Amino acid sequence: MSGTNQRIDGKRLWDSLMAMAEIGATPKGGVRRLTLTEVDKAGRERFRSWCEALGLAVRVDAIGNMFARREGRDPDRLPVLMGSHLDSQPSGGKFDGALGVIAGLEVMRSLNDLNIQTEAPIELVNWTDEEGSRFGHSLMGSGAWAGVYPLDKVYGLQDVDGVSVEQALTAIGYKGEAPAKPFPADAYFELHIEQGPILEQEGKRIGIVTGAQAQVWWDARILGQDAHAGTTPPSARKDALVCAARIIDLVDRMMRARGEDGRGTVGFLQVIPNSRNVVPGEVRFSVEFRHPDTAEIERLAAQFPREAGFIARDCGLPLELTELFRFPLQPFDAGCVDLVRQAAARLGLPAREIVSGAGHDAVYVARSVPTAMIFTPCKDGLSHNEAESIEPEEAEAGCQVLFEAVLARANRAL
Ligand SMILES: [Zn+2]
Repeated sequence: MSGTNQRIDGKRLWDSLMAMAEIGATPKGGVRRLTLTEVDKAGRERFRSWCEALGLAVRVDAIGNMFARREGRDPDRLPVLMGSHLDSQPSGGKFDGALGVIAGLEVMRSLNDLNIQTEAPIELVNWTDEEGSRFGHSLMGSGAWAGVYPLDKVYGLQDVDGVSVEQALTAIGYKGEAPAKPFPADAYFELHIEQGPILEQEGKRIGIVTGAQAQVWWDARILGQDAHAGTTPPSARKDALVCAARIIDLVDRMMRARGEDGRGTVGFLQVIPNSRNVVPGEVRFSVEFRHPDTAEIERLAAQFPREAGFIARDCGLPLELTELFRFPLQPFDAGCVDLVRQAAARLGLPAREIVSGAGHDAVYVARSVPTAMIFTPCKDGLSHNEAESIEPEEAEAGCQVLFEAVLARANRAL
């Protein structure tokens, strides 16, 4: 790699990634670091001590987001932010989220080692509860910060044991003093694993992320009638699961009609009463579509309820559809994206532009701060899985691009 001649330390980055992965390590080589648990607290404490050892000032906001600040030379400049999340899925991997936070830490360490004083301050962020697996609301910390979710509402969300977000924050000592709302910032950069197969298939080292897909999500409920499986003839059945199955097939067909850019998923299904000799009387399930083109999501948002309604009517059963949210394509900032592109080019790293298929904290941050993301390949495109894996050289390359983009932004001529 050529470039600035200023190198991050790839071995130190990898060692710290592995040290973070010890916290909540699972027997199959993954990580279970659910948000706002004692395990999450242990991860936060390790992160905080690493930051403080570098002389960074750490502050925590009202939703538990952590910001570690390195001062710049010019007190009038707005900070350049970088970061990601340290929480994981229940059976998650070592790199989803942690890569972006630990790479940001390595950027800070390298700036110290190289005696670099940037013009603008730099802040490293650990966003609370990106994954949404405990309280059912993904991107919770960045969403509350960005004002997408009102804080009161977020505080009241409960996990399966009835523990609220506010109680959990207080229990681990991370309900902070700083307000959870956007503050003026110059830019935000997030390094993340791709969580898909494209970079690996094409032999690219770096994904220059230009934006995040448009999405529409629903909760669905079909109400039939519980009945004896042995005594109820076809004409008397109100089988909610058969109706749901036809709608699931519809989701898949609507996705496939859109070619390789289509995404349509029913990932959650609850059958009530879920007994082998009872005709299912009620089914609840999730439906989501994603697409890089906002117009396509608008068409899907109109077409799916209509066609699912026809199926339910044919089945003679009522279908309730609650739209949870609909996002347009969130484009990233052209200037920030260009810094990523230039860094990859200077370093001679094979790169391509890519639209993020997953939601990320960056998507909410982008609503108020100029934002870009950097993707690194992950093995077989696998994530949200204990087998999630990346190569040390890939982590190093991604971190070096992050370093160069952040440094260029923090020192840019105003
Ligand atoms: Zn993530």
